[in-house]
Amino acid sequence: MKNGTRLPLRREENGERLRGRRPLGRRGAIAMDGPAGVGKSTVGTLVAKELGYRFLNTGEMYRALTWKALERGLDLEDGAALARLSRALKWEFRPGEDGVVLRTFVDGTGVTLHIRDERVSMNSSRVSGKPGVRRHMRELQRLLGKAGGIVMEGRDITTVVLPDADLKVYLDASPDERARRRTRQLRAQGKKADFRRIRESIVQRDRQDAERRINPLRKADDAVLIDSTRLTMREVAERILRLFRKKMRGVPRRS
Ligand code: C5P
Repeated sequence: MKNGTRLPLRREENGERLRGRRPLGRRGAIAMDGPAGVGKSTVGTLVAKELGYRFLNTGEMYRALTWKALERGLDLEDGAALARLSRALKWEFRPGEDGVVLRTFVDGTGVTLHIRDERVSMNSSRVSGKPGVRRHMRELQRLLGKAGGIVMEGRDITTVVLPDADLKVYLDASPDERARRRTRQLRAQGKKADFRRIRESIVQRDRQDAERRINPLRKADDAVLIDSTRLTMREVAERILRLFRKKMRGVPRRS
């Protein structure tokens, strides 16, 4: 993360004075993990918006590295080369138009348009399984989390990246429900979506993320489990906000 990273954030940007609400004593951090397609980004963005915090989807970072590695024709089994590439790139995280969601930029290019294609999706779990890659990502993510005022989601945020976050949430939903949501979302965007294929790919990614040797996806012992199968994203966000506000009231103010 070289120049251009706009973190830590200025206090007033973190909006601890949201719409008449009593400000929380200090800017906290919310860490959230869960499997693919569970709605972590939607929920995380809602929560961050409400608190005036920033939101980071760390999956974007693994996807961005996968995109760059594919573009350069790297061998995706060569962990050392992938880690070298990661350290050589210039990483920046800039708030998008809403001022909430941090967008990943690599060597000056916004990655959003490049990281959602099938090749990147299918290969990102291979890239994220490499220890050297995870080490570098963890360094960047901890820097971003340091100042607080952030909601960060991924697969190892509660367990490895921000184990001392003020609130840790493990968000879950059944594979059927996750595949249904993804299918609906793609169709709403006018894209073709086959439920069975989407479900298969979700189950396959679950397996890869849970079975990898290094930092596998699992619920931290002290993370709150929220099963969103029968909840709307807004209901999940409200539950998290209630838990967070309660927790922060009991935390002494850091000067
Ligand atoms: O969240 P998303 O599905 O976009 O993440 C892409 C991939 O990045 C995941 O399949 C997972 O392998 C990896 N990932 C990870 N650790 C994180 C976030 C994502 O290993 N904290």
